[in-house]
This record gives sequence, C-alpha cells and structure tokens, in this order.
Amino acid sequence: MNKQQKQAIHQQLDEQLVELSSAIANLELQRGSLTPDTSIGRISRMEAIEAASVNSTKMDNYRRREQALLNALERLNKDPDFGYCEECSNVIPAGRLALMPEATRCVGCAES
Ligand SMILES: [Zn+2]
Repeated sequence: MNKQQKQAIHQQLDEQLVELSSAIANLELQRGSLTPDTSIGRISRMEAIEAASVNSTKMDNYRRREQALLNALERLNKDPDFGYCEECSNVIPAGRLALMPEATRCVGCAES
C-alpha cells in the first residue's frame, strides 16, 4: 500500500469518525429528552421506552464502530501490514478499505 492510498484511507477514517461522533452526540441529546415523564400518557410512555431501547442499541453499534475505526487508524499509522489480509496476506482492495477501513481480511476470507 503506497503513501497516497494510506492518506486516502486516513481521510476516510477521519470523516467517518467525525460523522460518528456527531451521530453519537445527537443520540445523547435525544436520550436526554426521553427521561420518563409522568405527564405523558401510557402509550406515549411505552413509545418512549421503546425508542430509548432502540437508541441504546444504536448507541452500542456506534460505539463499537467508533472503536473499530480508532483501531484501524492506529494500525494504519503503526502497522506496516495494514491493508493486507491477516489470513491470506493478500492485499485488501482499496475499495473495500475505503468502505470498511476497519477490515482486516479480504472479502474472500471474510466470507469463508
Ligand atoms: Zn484473505
């Protein structure tokens, strides 16, 4: 993987991290407004509880993805093997890395 490709992926990672952190911030704002309120009716309270649980699943996913991206960023900076499949040692196509910078395996190995 050449320097230019690494830079492109670095930029992808940065952009995705920025998007994620604003998504997380949004979710946190929503969560703040979902605290149980005795003035709302039974149904809307159930809706609020349901929404809160959907949000917390989302939040888990966001956090996991954020961690994966941070790991990828660290590997990109430090690991000379970044961009190579950890199973078959083939180059992971740049297109795949652009979409999923946290990928550590090529499509073939990831699917098997
Ligand atoms: Zn592979």
